[in-house]
Amino acid sequence: MSSIRILSDRVANQIAAGEVIERPAAVVKELVENSLDARATRIEVEFRSGGRAYIRVEDNGAGMDRDDAQLALERHATSKIAEAADLDRLSTFGFRGEALPSIASVSRFELQTRTAGSEVGTEIVVNGGRLLHVRECGRPVGTRVVVAQLFNSVPARRKFLKSDATESAHIIHCVRLYALACPQAAFTLIEDERPIFRSPQCTSTAERVAEIFGRQIAESLLAVELEEAGLRLRGLVGRPGVGRATRHEMITFVNQRPVDSRTLSYALIESYHEAIPKGRYPLAFLFLDLDPAAVDVNVHPAKREVRFRNEAQVRALVIRAVLRSLRAFGQAAMVAPVGAPAGDRIPIDPAADAGRTLESRIAAPFPAFRPALSREPVAVPDGPGLLPTAPAAIPSPENAPRSPAGWRYLGVAHGAYVLFETEAGVVLLDRRAAHERIWFERLREQFAAGLVGTQRLLLPVPVELDAIASALLLDRLGFLADHGWEVAEFGRHFFRIEGIPEWMDPADAEPFLRDLLGAWREGRLVTKDLELARDELARLAATKAVRMPEGVSEPEMLALAAQLFACHQPMTSPAGRPTCLELSHGELARRFQK
Ligand code: ADP
Ligand code: MG
Repeated sequence: MSSIRILSDRVANQIAAGEVIERPAAVVKELVENSLDARATRIEVEFRSGGRAYIRVEDNGAGMDRDDAQLALERHATSKIAEAADLDRLSTFGFRGEALPSIASVSRFELQTRTAGSEVGTEIVVNGGRLLHVRECGRPVGTRVVVAQLFNSVPARRKFLKSDATESAHIIHCVRLYALACPQAAFTLIEDERPIFRSPQCTSTAERVAEIFGRQIAESLLAVELEEAGLRLRGLVGRPGVGRATRHEMITFVNQRPVDSRTLSYALIESYHEAIPKGRYPLAFLFLDLDPAAVDVNVHPAKREVRFRNEAQVRALVIRAVLRSLRAFGQAAMVAPVGAPAGDRIPIDPAADAGRTLESRIAAPFPAFRPALSREPVAVPDGPGLLPTAPAAIPSPENAPRSPAGWRYLGVAHGAYVLFETEAGVVLLDRRAAHERIWFERLREQFAAGLVGTQRLLLPVPVELDAIASALLLDRLGFLADHGWEVAEFGRHFFRIEGIPEWMDPADAEPFLRDLLGAWREGRLVTKDLELARDELARLAATKAVRMPEGVSEPEMLALAAQLFACHQPMTSPAGRPTCLELSHGELARRFQK
């Protein structure tokens, strides 16, 4: 019978490495965290062959003296906490004291380090957990760790690694995360001698995002900032309509640490319920800061997961903050419903949740998330449109905006003319003209912002054209695609409409396309001047393809008036007809010969 014995440190470290160091990116993560904990302002990461051949992380942080450097390689050696209670005031990334010995136990590990206080540096080399040497070396203040032949001594682990390209993608993602978390440090990332990015010290997250994700993404983001009851949420989120097919660009941090948190990601997805189609994911870089005692990061050795003491509070904060930014953008960029509620009173989903306020949704425990998470990315929309202002949402009694101050609704004549009593007299509003003006401006804003969603048609609509029209159409498929259409050629002069802008009734798809072709042929729509072309497209759409809602109730008509007067040019329809007539007291008196 075998007897119980204590594992050697080397074996214990290799076992721990199985938990902490599951792949090359995990080595990079631990080393970069150490550099940041050492208050480095410059960090360089280099790797080769997906990290399995070579990883180098070099910093200009505090460094270690000879004794500390040796101690750092012992299991559970850390300078960051002394007792478990310290976890509640944790301000460093590391605390378990496991990373260095674990990494050194499964690689050829070389550490060079020097503090400002010492003349010479220390070099320690360990191979597969066996110490090779400790000696003096020359080097600038800071630390350099080189990890080579990762997992060579642990073939079982090596087998689980994916292709170099996959491992490399993980490393790049990881370094990006920390670069985002700490814009105050300069980061360089080099793969196989090729720089992936070099970002100098940045003064803001926005600047860092632009540096490493590109200006184009940075420009499609909105700032988020809200502080409440000891919680602070800040960061950047995608504009309404800006969604992604995967969740990779939903990036969340808690107390600067990149984390995966169900609470945060669901709250985010929920906030975008109306702003992007189901099955798509928001783009977000969100930072939550809170008392370290209110969050448990020690759920998993790699510390990617966190738990909050008060999940509901965190969730409510995220939803409130994100909705506030989305809404502020919506009001600035699109036709703002006048007097849109200042509080959180816009129903999330006017059709399904009519009357349920945001507060009641926040107060609810975890809501039944639509199974959007597992849905196919492109689905035929079954709810209201992409933007918070789908046609059906205009006159919902719940979010009825205030009417132009002081107007009193009197009634509708012939379903077409709305009568209001105003301070100055009476106003007659032409419903259709008002509706067209509102939609014209709304569409124009959407086109300019590139926020046109597409609805896929369940049954594609075949269209047969003559030779001229079909040549015109072929030339303009790109313009159409940019404005919400999916039209494919499937034979000589034969086309198929597979998707249409989300604001359009599918029944109008074919006639509207023909109208467009007519406008092109007559030269009314010149695609060369994009702005003019968009104006004309919006005008055609508003007059021909946007349906007028049926209802004519008082709140609906007040909402219509309010929205009309929030337009830039409320007095005329896009075709130049008047939207309303005013009869002043004087005019009335004159007509009645008083
Ligand atoms: P932890 O980070 O959990 O404390 P590690 O094994 O990652 O454990 O590191 C052990 C110790 O080594 C750290 O607590 C720190 O004192 C020291 N150390 C590691 N890397 C660096 C570095 N780049 N610069 C300065 N000190 C470091
Ligand atoms: Mg560490």
